[in-house]
Amino acid sequence: MKTWTVPLADIILGPEEIEAVKQVLESGWLSMGPQTLKFEEHFAQFLEIKHAFAVANGTAALHLACEVLGLTTGDEVLCPALTFVASANAILYTGAKPIFVDINGPDDLNLSVADARKKITGQTKAIMVVHYGGYPCDMDAVAALARSHGLKIIEDCAHAPGAVYHSAAGPKKAGVLGDIGCFSFFSNKNMTTGEGGMVVTDDDDLAGKLKVARSHGMTTLTWDRHKGHSFNYDVVARGYNYRLDEIRAALGIVQLTRLAAGNARRRELTLTYQKELQDLPQIDLPFRQAPAGSSHHLFPVLLQKGLSRSNFMAALAERGIQTSVHYPPVHKFTHYRRLWAPGFDHRVPLTEEVAERVLTLPLFPHMTAGQLTAVVDAVKNVLANV
Ligand SMILES: *Cc1c(COP(=O)(O)O)cnc(C)c1O
Repeated sequence: MKTWTVPLADIILGPEEIEAVKQVLESGWLSMGPQTLKFEEHFAQFLEIKHAFAVANGTAALHLACEVLGLTTGDEVLCPALTFVASANAILYTGAKPIFVDINGPDDLNLSVADARKKITGQTKAIMVVHYGGYPCDMDAVAALARSHGLKIIEDCAHAPGAVYHSAAGPKKAGVLGDIGCFSFFSNKNMTTGEGGMVVTDDDDLAGKLKVARSHGMTTLTWDRHKGHSFNYDVVARGYNYRLDEIRAALGIVQLTRLAAGNARRRELTLTYQKELQDLPQIDLPFRQAPAGSSHHLFPVLLQKGLSRSNFMAALAERGIQTSVHYPPVHKFTHYRRLWAPGFDHRVPLTEEVAERVLTLPLFPHMTAGQLTAVVDAVKNVLANV
């Protein structure tokens, strides 16, 4: 494995995580149990939401959201093309079809509500928003659109744990702004359990369905049976095994305590990056005008049209700087191309333009001032020679 001077992302696992995992191992109970419940309680308190269910990964959270909202074959779900493929895959699992929505533009890579409105048909049942890079979407506008067309709202909050949206009704955390919020704790996210996720809702009926669907559609849980509270069960819905285990829940409890400080540090680094890079004519900085409240998961930049992104990324890699692309747009992937007639136009021109230009620079909470300077110097140095 190449060791980078500045990796794209990195995680902090301290003695607290090691101790928490050790205690689980010593307890002798590894599958979903008291740690998982505690993680869910802490996460729900953090978001100020009624229900939170820990799941195996963020994709499982999205799938359960689609499932319990009753999405099925023939339904259409509005969803950005500029996202990780998991968002759209989760829609496909139910038989429903993602309808790709364009971004607002190079300054705001979040989904355009105006474009979403244009793509609503008689089959549209839901809208899945992704808070790109941790920057909250315009959720007041999304909610108004959803209300006027009877759509359900799924928030993909994989980038946005702890992000705050300033709605007309006051500040609220990402994840509580729609019908169901979905989080990922994959290793490169703002908090991690290795693999893991959380699905949250304020709706008691949806909560009941989520809980059942997460665990085989069964009416009692493994932990209840273990405790001897229940010796029989029924299966009342199509279910999955999407549970999180105790080891990862214990990690999550500790990681959640690090989140606020980590996000604050990500914000400082982002502001420094912006100050250092804003005058470079060869790059544009999306979200420079974004309201405060982002969880700053990513620091994306747009390379000027005509410059080779692959050469630029390779030159940075030579200087020990790891970069990535978030994202190759979903509708361009082979599997997705096959779902539509050849040549079908998804009408996401701004996404297509930005997707050619975007790359992500390193950003993680314990990135040092020296590492940030190394990235900025490398960027300036490479651009001075193109
Ligand atoms: C990471 C991510 C997911 C999927 O999460 P997993 O935990 O890896 O399944 C979904 N959507 C977006 C936008 C992501 O970044």
